[in-house]
Amino acid sequence: MEISCTDKELFIFKKIAHAAEELNVPCYLIGGFVRDKIIRRATKDADIMCVGDGIELAKTVTKYFNPQPNVAYFKNFGTAHIKADDFDIEFVGARKESYRNNSRNPDVVPGTLEDDQKRRDFTINALAISLNKNDYGKLIDPFGGLADIDNKIIKTPLDPLQTFSDDPLRMMRAIRFASQLNFTIEEKTFDAICADAGRIKIVSQERITEELNKILLSSKPSVGFDLLFKSGLLKIIFPQMVDLAGAEYIDGKGHKDNFHHTLQVIDNISVTTNDLWLRWAAVLHDIAKPATKKFEDGHGWTFHGHEVVGARMVPKIFSRLKLPLNEKMRLVQKLVELHLRPISLTKENITDSAIRRLLFDAGDDIDSLMLLCEADITSKNKIKVKRYLANFELVRQRLKEVEEKDRIRNWQPPVTGEMIMETFGLSPSRIVGDLKNAIREAILDGEIENSYDAAYKFMMEKAKTLNLEPVK
Ligand code: ATP
Repeated sequence: MEISCTDKELFIFKKIAHAAEELNVPCYLIGGFVRDKIIRRATKDADIMCVGDGIELAKTVTKYFNPQPNVAYFKNFGTAHIKADDFDIEFVGARKESYRNNSRNPDVVPGTLEDDQKRRDFTINALAISLNKNDYGKLIDPFGGLADIDNKIIKTPLDPLQTFSDDPLRMMRAIRFASQLNFTIEEKTFDAICADAGRIKIVSQERITEELNKILLSSKPSVGFDLLFKSGLLKIIFPQMVDLAGAEYIDGKGHKDNFHHTLQVIDNISVTTNDLWLRWAAVLHDIAKPATKKFEDGHGWTFHGHEVVGARMVPKIFSRLKLPLNEKMRLVQKLVELHLRPISLTKENITDSAIRRLLFDAGDDIDSLMLLCEADITSKNKIKVKRYLANFELVRQRLKEVEEKDRIRNWQPPVTGEMIMETFGLSPSRIVGDLKNAIREAILDGEIENSYDAAYKFMMEKAKTLNLEPVK
C-alpha cells in the first residue's frame, strides 16, 4: 500500500523508528492519520502506538531532535505529546480495554498490537503502519479497513452492539465519519446504533456537541442529520429539531415537512460558507414552526411569528447543547429573527426607509443574513428559484445603494442618551429611552435628516409634547 507522506513526515517517522529500536519496543502509526493518508485527505496530527511505555518512547524520541522538543505527558492515561517541526505527535502504549456497564471509562491494561486495534471504533480507524525495522511501512489491517475505505463503509471491528454499548460516543462518531467522508454505515452497525441510541445519555454533552458541530461542518451535513434522525439519536440529543419533521393535513391541505426543508437549507448554506454559526442559523431558522403552527380557514397553514419565537428559543437550545452563550449565539439569534425581512423587501415599491431599517437592524451581519435567505430557497421549480434569487439580487443592490447614501450600518443616532439627559437634567429613565427611540425612528423613517441639527430640533419639539423643559 503506497501512501504519500511529506519528506518532513518521513524524516520524523525515521527518528521515531530509531528511538523505538533503541528501546526495543514495536511501534506503529495508527488511527486517523493512516486512514486520512489512504483517503488522501489532509492530515493533522499523528498517533504513534507502541507495545510498551508510550511516555518513555516519547522521551527517547526527543533525543533525536536538535533542539529537543518538550514532552507533555499524562501519566494517568499513559499518553505523551510532542510537537516536532510543527507536527503534533501523540504517543500511547498498546492497550486492552474492558468496560463496565454504566460508564464510558474502561478498565485499561497494557495489551498487544492486536488488542489495541480491537479497541478502535471502526475498521477504517484500526489500520496501523509498522515503523519497525523488519517490516517498516507494512500496513497491518486485521479487520479489512482498507477494503472498507475502498467501499466507503463504516463498520465496527467487533460486534457493534458491544462496541457502542462500551462507549456510546462511538455512535455519534460513526455518523460524523459517514457525514464527513460521505461513507455508508454498514447495516448491522447502523442497526446497533438504532438499538443502543438510548445509551447516548451517559455521554457528556460537550462530547456530543463536538461531534454535532463536526457533522454540521461537513460538506453535506444533511447526510449526518438524516442518520441522526433515522437512528433515533436526534430525538434524544436535539428533540426540537425532530419536532420539525412531518406534515399535517387539514381539508386536504398540508404544509411542507420542515425537517427536510431545514436539511436542504443547511446543505445550501454549506455551499456558500464554512462558518459554523451561519450553519447553526440555518439549523434553527424555522425551529419555532411547530410551536407557532395554525390552520386558518381560508388561508391554510400559517406560522406567524415563528422567527421571533425561534430567536427566543435560541438561548435555551444553546444552553442545553452547551454551545457558547456569547456573541456567536447572539448572531444566530439575530439571523433567526431577521430571516424573513429580506423577503418582505422583494415586493415592489419598497421605500428607502424599509431598506434603512433592515440595514440598521442587521448591521454588519447583513451579508450573512442575505446568505441565509438565499439558502432558504428550496423550491424544486428551477424557474421559481431563478426568480427568487433575482429578487434577492435586487434587494442586495438596493441595500448597497442606501448604505452608500446613508451609511446606516453600525450607525448611531446623532443625539445620544447622554445628551438628552444633560439637556433636560434627567437621570437614566424610561423617558430618556423613549426620546432616543423617537429620534432614531424619525431618521430611519426619513421624516428628518440624519444630522445633529435636525435631530436636536426634533428632540426639542418632541420634548415639548412631553412637558420637558431644558435646563439652563
Ligand atoms: P479526527 O481527527 O477527524 O477527529 P480521528 O479518527 O483522528 O478523527 P481522534 O479523536 O483523534 O479522531 O482519534 C484518533 C484515533 O483514536 C481514531 O482514529 C480511533 O482509532 C481512536 N479512537 C478515538 N476515539 C475513539 C473511541 N471513542 N473509541 C474507540 N476508538 C477511538
